Amino acid sequence: MTIVERLNRIKDSLPANVHLVAVSKFHSNDAIMEAYNAGQRVFGESRVQEVTKKYEDLPKDINWHFIGHLQTNKVKYIAPFITMVHSADSIKLIEELNLCAYKNNRTIDILIQIHIAEEDTKSGFSYSEAESLFKENILSKYPFIKVKGLMGMATYTDNDEQVKKEFAGLSAFFNKIKDTYYRENPDFIELSMGMSDDYLMAVEKGSTMVRIGSKIFGERI
Ligand SMILES: *Cc1c(COP(=O)(O)O)cnc(C)c1O
Repeated sequence: MTIVERLNRIKDSLPANVHLVAVSKFHSNDAIMEAYNAGQRVFGESRVQEVTKKYEDLPKDINWHFIGHLQTNKVKYIAPFITMVHSADSIKLIEELNLCAYKNNRTIDILIQIHIAEEDTKSGFSYSEAESLFKENILSKYPFIKVKGLMGMATYTDNDEQVKKEFAGLSAFFNKIKDTYYRENPDFIELSMGMSDDYLMAVEKGSTMVRIGSKIFGERI
């Protein structure tokens, strides 16, 4: 199957309200342009140097989403153009995103990353840390970032019940935060969860944004 066939097959499997981030990390500009020419405009990347180069080389109406762990000292390179950062996983990073957005005279959309997996290698706030961010209204100190919702990555396992449980937990937390702290604020709408191997379970549990790489572009080279 071609990239376009795989892309269309995934789009057909998604409900209309679920956005698709085509994760193009480690894939070539040619591969990205195949998806672009089929209408895809949202691409996900996880390395600063790579996304910066691709931004320079590729059409300017692409919306670049940063999905990997982001080092504070590298925010300045992507702040001029990045559409959304899914991986806001510390206050220090949020502070820097706010400062760099201000310096670039723009606001940057972010998702608060929640640690829902068993592995310690995955980053993110714990549920209780995240709850206090919202409860103590800490995010309002950063006017140049807009908090659009939450992101999470499930444990890498073939135990589907565990994955579903982690997604269901994040989805319940998302709804609680939305109902408690964002009732008057329509910005908090996105729940980014689901990758190539688990996106159908994520959608079943309420994902609004899936991040899919290998199922579109093939295995990373
Ligand atoms: C690489 C990556 C994805 C996409 O993974 P696939 O299994 O190739 O779909 C999604 N989210 C994050 C955070 C990633 O780093």
